[in-house]
Amino acid sequence: MNAKASAPASLPGRVVAGYGRRMLVEDSEGNRHRCISSGRSLRAVCGDRVRWRHGGREGVVTAIEERSTELTRPDKRGRKEVLAANMTHVVVVAAPEPEPDAFIVDRYLAAAHFMGVDCTVVFNKQDLPEPRAQWPDEYERAGYPVWRVSARSGEGLAALSAHMNDHTSIFVGQSGVGKSSLLNALVPDLALATQELSTASREGRHTTTASVLHHTPSSGDIIDSPGVRDYAPAPIPPADVDQGYREFLPFLGRCRFANCRHLAEPDCAVKQAAETGQISSRRYESYRRLLRLMEKLSAPPR
Ligand code: GDP
Ligand code: ZN
Repeated sequence: MNAKASAPASLPGRVVAGYGRRMLVEDSEGNRHRCISSGRSLRAVCGDRVRWRHGGREGVVTAIEERSTELTRPDKRGRKEVLAANMTHVVVVAAPEPEPDAFIVDRYLAAAHFMGVDCTVVFNKQDLPEPRAQWPDEYERAGYPVWRVSARSGEGLAALSAHMNDHTSIFVGQSGVGKSSLLNALVPDLALATQELSTASREGRHTTTASVLHHTPSSGDIIDSPGVRDYAPAPIPPADVDQGYREFLPFLGRCRFANCRHLAEPDCAVKQAAETGQISSRRYESYRRLLRLMEKLSAPPR
């Protein structure tokens, strides 16, 4: 058969960077192609598996395959916006400086729960003289894996790298915590890949805010996401928010009311656990804030 039929066959590919309708698609040989989506409503994000075909100046993405997972946030109108797709592991990067915002960490960990994927807190900049060692302990006590590393000294990086084998991890967190520095340490030739990307994305307007997928030498993939000043997962039913806090789980179902929101209800097992220190009062406050936000997002518009 003549392979040069008039309509080129569609090929499998993976989006390694998305800029609105423009994206960079990696083919099965690892070569990257500039592509545009075939229609306005076809919005692929980093990590998406797609069907695409060669075009004139750039390829054309014709379909997005079903996603196994999505990292989301609410858009300006409170609806779900997808930031990246098909991750198996959320890595929340934190550091003693800039001033840590633990609520952001909590919300990414909750998001990982609702995505149904593994999550890890990576506490970077351990080389600093006073890395406020007690701060990450709260997460360890709550049952989350915490890795203490330093992108600068290299401490902990080999173990972290091994932990990410065979995962598609996404790095999330505040700006300035060292995500780019960690990525540089874990992905050789990163500078090269970044240059290739910026050439490919010249026409994309949001170059600096896009997520980008990189390969590690040991069969892991890392999606680098832009730093944030705030984060919340896309709307989740308020009644489910408590499940996003891992250490609450043993207490759920033990409140007097089955539909307890763990606020001012009598005989609330979660509130009691917060009062006796079994749950940290800061994490309990964090739950209340996220619940309030989700109630606001799920309220019918007036
Ligand atoms: P990003 O915004 O999360 O990508 O953070 P960057 O990787 O750009 O790092 C922000 C700042 O923190 C830079 O000045 C880095 O040199 C510094 N930094 C990153 N990792 C470390 C670390 O392990 N130790 C120290 N002391 N500084 C670090
Ligand atoms: Zn309760």
